[in-house]
Amino acid sequence: MTGQKTHTISIIYGDGIGPEVVGASRKIIDATGVKINWEVCEAGAQVFKKGIATGVPQETIESIKKNKIVLKGPLETPVGYGEKSANVTLRKLFETYANIRPIKEFPGVPSPYEGRNVDFVIVRENVEDLYAGIEYMQTPGVAETLKIITRKGCEKIVRFAFEFARSEGRTVVHCATKANIMKFSEGMLKRAFEDIAKDYPEIEARHIIVDNCAHQLVRFPEKFQCIVTTNMNGDILSDLGSGLIGGLGFAPGANLGADVAMFEAVHGSAPKYAGTNTINPLAVLLSGVMMLRFIREFDAANTIEQSVLATLESGVYTQDVNKSGSVSTTEFTDTIIKNFGKTSNAWAKRDYKPIKVHVLSTDRDYVKVTNRREMGMDVFIESSLSAEELGKELREMTVDSPFELKDISSRGVKVFPSMGTDPDVVDHWRLRFMIRDKTDMNDTVSLELLRRIGEKHRWMHTEKLNEFDGAQGYSKAQGED
Ligand code: NAP
Repeated sequence: MTGQKTHTISIIYGDGIGPEVVGASRKIIDATGVKINWEVCEAGAQVFKKGIATGVPQETIESIKKNKIVLKGPLETPVGYGEKSANVTLRKLFETYANIRPIKEFPGVPSPYEGRNVDFVIVRENVEDLYAGIEYMQTPGVAETLKIITRKGCEKIVRFAFEFARSEGRTVVHCATKANIMKFSEGMLKRAFEDIAKDYPEIEARHIIVDNCAHQLVRFPEKFQCIVTTNMNGDILSDLGSGLIGGLGFAPGANLGADVAMFEAVHGSAPKYAGTNTINPLAVLLSGVMMLRFIREFDAANTIEQSVLATLESGVYTQDVNKSGSVSTTEFTDTIIKNFGKTSNAWAKRDYKPIKVHVLSTDRDYVKVTNRREMGMDVFIESSLSAEELGKELREMTVDSPFELKDISSRGVKVFPSMGTDPDVVDHWRLRFMIRDKTDMNDTVSLELLRRIGEKHRWMHTEKLNEFDGAQGYSKAQGED
């Protein structure tokens, strides 16, 4: 039984193989009888060529804003024209904070893990972390990228992961972080995970260090059901995941936000296959199956999924599975439609339920504290002096200052006072100043310190050292007490 509701959905055919794979998917989805009014939108290469620098015209933005659901084909990233990736523009415009990548083994599709029952989903935070794109050349030879992680962003992605697991009847959620090294940023996801897990008592919540997660995924991928992780970790783990199954032709995905849900394959526009009628449409089609479940058309989604499995089990496949005996994209598409009603011998149906997307408070001060204290200030400078020379000079410079030089570090290692080793330092130093009397910390004394330092050295960056409700809000250098 398909639902009676008519859904209006924005559809972007995209570039290269896009029209073939999105066209095939639309045909299969329509054949289920589900009522969809497709609103065709443009984005990508043709739009760039018209001179629209974002690759996304205003009409497309309006359609997505209105319909909130998008089935999207791959968009070519411009080389030589336009400036930005239209894919990234779309994800940023609609703040799609969750990237979902199901990794599932398919019958008859050769892969290194055939027969192992690989079936997990990666829920990747999609807008924060190192991908905020905040970068600086601090000196001609030292680059910095800021890793921005917010408690709110963590709560959103963690809740989404638990809800997604619940909607698919998955019973274990792993949280993969590097919290052992980055205790504040990656640790924030771990803490949010531990707090929120309590609201999902039927799901087992396990934290795993991300490098171990990569190792375990290669050795025992069948042990995982759902992995929630930060942006960069998720980027790497999800490509590792695609490699565990039959390749990019079988890797669907979704980018979801509080408002807009965009369903798209992991693969790109594969231009060399454009117009050849040989390409595998399953990655887009399976993204469409996710979309159908998202809009609560469970029967249509199950019909397609079971038919895909039955089709592959019967030995019908496209050339990426095996060139010999393969069929064209259109024949594959028609066989899937013909096989509606057939079920897989090997694959049990999941008991899918509607997914709940939490809307969190819009308060800007999402985490409230009652006490905050400024304990000191870090100043980053460029100097060709040695650590010893710098330390002596700065101690003399601040003898009558409210600040005391605690130590100097270079690339995260304390170098002054010396620990008796000889690290390979560059001309980029972090000076850590603590306030002598905690009541004295204010902008006037901080700016005076910067002025004094600036007379002798080029400073490029400062950080205040905060305590929030008694908890230290800054990390220590290696070797710092
Ligand atoms: P790609 O388009 O994903 O293609 C790389 C290779 O993956 C293909 O040559 C083919 O491998 C295989 N492949 C891709 N789609 C397949 C499918 N449906 N069925 C079977 N095999 C498939 O990556 P690319 O060549 O690096 O990128 C091409 C363009 O797409 C670039 O402009 C890139 O920026 C863009 N892109 C867009 C998105 C997006 O829109 N979300 C994502 C990634 C890339 P074989 O050659 O081995 O057959």
